Amino acid sequence: MFIEPNISGERRGWIEVICGSMFSGKTEELIRRLKRAKIAHLKVEIFKPAIDIRFDENNVVSHDSNLINSTPIDNSQTILLMASDVDIVGIDEAQFFDDEIMNVCETLALRGIRVIVAGLDMDYLGKPFGQMPKLLAIADFITKLHAICVVCGNIANNSYRKKPHGSQVLLGELDLYEPRCRKCYHEAMENDKTLQAELQSSFNNAPKLF
Ligand code: ZN
Repeated sequence: MFIEPNISGERRGWIEVICGSMFSGKTEELIRRLKRAKIAHLKVEIFKPAIDIRFDENNVVSHDSNLINSTPIDNSQTILLMASDVDIVGIDEAQFFDDEIMNVCETLALRGIRVIVAGLDMDYLGKPFGQMPKLLAIADFITKLHAICVVCGNIANNSYRKKPHGSQVLLGELDLYEPRCRKCYHEAMENDKTLQAELQSSFNNAPKLF
């Protein structure tokens, strides 16, 4: 559980990153922190990439239907324009943002804003996802959450994709992905020739989720 720093005097901004696999509760944790801030009468703005429209266009929605108003945006720098008079900025699904997201978070923190970022740290091939490694490097506070491996019940860091690539873009669907621990993930990958081939061809490509 993250304990909010008790900072007195001049207002200082900082960056919190919540990371982990799919089904690890990242969005739930983001929502929990933002709701506590609202109780404290702090002004909160939440952003998510426009690509993440799986359930609801204007809300950050977690798997347990806990929701909070958010703004879908195409470009991370839009956050700087839209967060001019806020205490806290929440950013969900940060792995999908462009490579300016790190500078955006730094700029916000320098303005005295508390920045809370949630995102997938690895794609389904087990590779670092998008700008998440950089965001983790510059963060003041990091929370890594774990799902539960559906095979053996240990803690899970990996998001295993069960089916070949389909035409539909589906994010976070339990019938497409499942959380697995390192051992069960790698055993499944070794037995899955299609995913193995993708892994081999992916070294020069962007991380893949779909
Ligand atoms: Zn396992």
